[in-house]
Amino acid sequence: MPAATPAPVSPGAASTTPLAPAAPPAAATPPPASPAGRLRWARFLPATVAEGPGRRAALWVQGCRIHCPGCFNPELWAARGGRVDDPAALAARLLAQAQDGGVEGLTLLGGEPFDQAAALAVVARAFREAGLTVMTFTGYRHPSLTAWADDGREDVAALLAATDLLVDGPYLRDHPDRRRPWLGSTNQGLRALTPAYAAEVARLEREGGADRVELRLTRDGGIEVNGWAEVAALEELLDGLDGARLARLRRPTGPHLTRTTEGAPR
Ligand code: SF4
Repeated sequence: MPAATPAPVSPGAASTTPLAPAAPPAAATPPPASPAGRLRWARFLPATVAEGPGRRAALWVQGCRIHCPGCFNPELWAARGGRVDDPAALAARLLAQAQDGGVEGLTLLGGEPFDQAAALAVVARAFREAGLTVMTFTGYRHPSLTAWADDGREDVAALLAATDLLVDGPYLRDHPDRRRPWLGSTNQGLRALTPAYAAEVARLEREGGADRVELRLTRDGGIEVNGWAEVAALEELLDGLDGARLARLRRPTGPHLTRTTEGAPR
């Protein structure tokens, strides 16, 4: 499927559903129409069990305009830095690594995936066409995204169409969600956009679930962390690793992916 061409942004094309008062205003306005031919990204893990259902690859994108107060990943806000690649070529490389890792799908986090919707749709479709699932985290709300898609935003429509499981809504640090895995605050939705995870979503909404955190030793002797943990628990875990460098690998969907304890790695 060819990359969608972003349509001009209509400043008035916001969701009709009001946001909670604490929500950042940018979450209610359409994302920028970014180019389909270049993707700015920050990190990639070929296999993790901490970033969604099952064993998954995870791709953190660089850049987020929403700026939720308390976001755990402010280093991923800037639309500079990271690496820039052609999304089709990048998808081929990442898919090969993910398949070597034996994953069931790809998780897109940030940063804000819908701020680069056209390029990420290219990546997401490549994984879907290989028989893998796609989970996407976003600080925008699903009703807003569908309204913008219906209003002509083909890039937004394309990424929604390539997503099986969506976590949506800005991170509200005063409303932590300690019951459902992967979500930072109770306002956020866990939405099965295809049947792939419908039963899992129903189970998690009914029973809740646990978060996970992963630590990896890097070749230079440092430690990378992803997933979620309370800061105190993580510091206790890391006690005794004197001299180790903690390179935080945060979930880019960031604060809306984190919970109450600011600074916890995602
Ligand atoms: S929580 Fe997500 S949407 Fe909110 S500022 Fe951080 S990266 Fe952006």
